[in-house]
Amino acid sequence: MMSRAAAPDVLVVGAGVVGLTTAICLAEQGLAVLVRADRPPAGTTSAVAGAIWGPHLVEDSERTAGWRRETLAVLRELAADPATGVRIASGIEATRSEPEPGPPAGWLAELGGARRCEPDALPPGFRGGWHYPAPLAHMPTYLEYLRARLERAGGTLELATVRSLAAAHPLARPDRHRRQPRPHRVLHRPARRRARAGLPVPAR
Ligand SMILES: Cc1cc2nc3c(=O)[nH]c(=O)nc-3n(C[C@H](O)[C@H](O)[C@H](O)COP(=O)(O)OP(=O)(O)OC[C@H]3O[C@@H](n4cnc5c(N)ncnc54)[C@H](O)[C@@H]3O)c2cc1C
Repeated sequence: MMSRAAAPDVLVVGAGVVGLTTAICLAEQGLAVLVRADRPPAGTTSAVAGAIWGPHLVEDSERTAGWRRETLAVLRELAADPATGVRIASGIEATRSEPEPGPPAGWLAELGGARRCEPDALPPGFRGGWHYPAPLAHMPTYLEYLRARLERAGGTLELATVRSLAAAHPLARPDRHRRQPRPHRVLHRPARRRARAGLPVPAR
């Protein structure tokens, strides 16, 4: 019999935070997942990220707002376990330009706990800023947590370069896309977590 790695349902290319997270979501739903990456998690850009929660260089839309709320809810849960490398950190985000008046807007208001900085709390040369608590990940620890979680879910990580999707794996051929996730499994977060994140909860 072929192993799950040799005949996966899904091939994920890349073992940074995006590839590992995608692979975990699929593997925890019961799919056989193979991650192929030419650099291990510790050698990726993800390993050197800041890495603070917050929207950056993304459009402000209902879709991205849903993603950020769901991510915030998940990261807050992970922060309860120090082994994940995620914690809630407080700090200042400062601007050299004239600060906007009024209460915090959008994502900052959703985050909760934001307060405007007093001028003497700002670094020299900065004119405004917000003090707020947000999820922050120590990425080497977080990536290791994700890698171990993928393994626990039965996923496999393989170090290899993918030169083209067609050559990567027989899975890349359209005729291999027939297998569906197990019908009794649901490919979304539990209703409780979706509701907390302000996302629509699908009817059962
Ligand atoms: C200094 C810095 C600070 C940052 N701060 C933040 C922050 O505060 N908050 C935030 O949200 N984001 C931050 N980012 C951005 C964040 O790091 C990236 O958006 C994120 O790491 C992208 O993850 P990724 O998994 O898509 O890519 P990567 O981490 O780059 O992983 C790519 C993976 O794909 C593999 N790969 C690529 N091509 C191939 C191929 N042909 N064959 C096989 N494998 C392949 C690589 O080997 C690797 O495993 C920061 C980035 C930097 C550099």
